[in-house]
Amino acid sequence: MLQKFFTRTKRLFALCLALLFCLTGCKSSPEKTSVTKKTTPSTTVTTAGTKESHATSETTGATTGKPDVTPTPKKKVALTFDDGPHIKYTVAIADELEKYGFHATFFVVGNRVDGTEYGGGNTLKYIIEGGHEVAVHGYTHTVHYDTCSEEIYNEEISKTIAAIKLYDADYEPRLVRPIGGRISQARVDASPYSIILWSVDSEDWKQKYYPEDNEQKKAAKLEKIVNDVMAEVEEGSIILMHDIYESTYDAVKIILKKLNEEGYEVVTVSELIGEPNPGTKYREKAE
Ligand SMILES: [Zn+2]
Repeated sequence: MLQKFFTRTKRLFALCLALLFCLTGCKSSPEKTSVTKKTTPSTTVTTAGTKESHATSETTGATTGKPDVTPTPKKKVALTFDDGPHIKYTVAIADELEKYGFHATFFVVGNRVDGTEYGGGNTLKYIIEGGHEVAVHGYTHTVHYDTCSEEIYNEEISKTIAAIKLYDADYEPRLVRPIGGRISQARVDASPYSIILWSVDSEDWKQKYYPEDNEQKKAAKLEKIVNDVMAEVEEGSIILMHDIYESTYDAVKIILKKLNEEGYEVVTVSELIGEPNPGTKYREKAE
């Protein structure tokens, strides 16, 4: 009798154990499923920001045992283009930037905006609508702001702004890049605009194509522009180029690809420096 009682108790105990195991097992299954479901969509999002990507990699690490890889934030640089707008190359460069979701700054020449030789205002509208920054270079591109009279200096700036506003009345340029990077300190101090120089000089104008250039010569020029930029670029760089040459456009295509691969994001100068600070000169030109 006693023997039978013990056998029954043992069976009951075994049954309880089995039930407990089943309950625990059943509980863990949905958790696993929900983790898998959660990670799948977020891993496909590449532009959602660091925070979300970080959460994804943590979850993945927990479920697969692989080491966590936290994506590093992109290093910001500004690509700047002087002397346009140019009906062909400004548009082509803007289209190339668009492929990466990048934005650049275009320091325009006033008489090329309201003139027709370079495509003028329609080109300007195209880049503004593309989310790029438009800024002031000068109206005639013939005077330097460290030696010209006060009257000429004011005219160069105000006429360029008026030319921009002819095509977008609400646009308020916030930056000025002096011709040749030359401006007196007194004018920097008094300027209602931030004065933008550069830290990386592509010297692309020295490598423009000539009709007599063969393919080999063109390739060598292209390589020189690309290598000069990539050798000097670092986080926070302001890179100087000119959007009026075919060689610059060809180089930009390669430079954007390389910058993207090396973890850079190309942003406007205003995005790079934050709130523009009138009367301040940004980045000394590289000698
Ligand atoms: Zn210029």
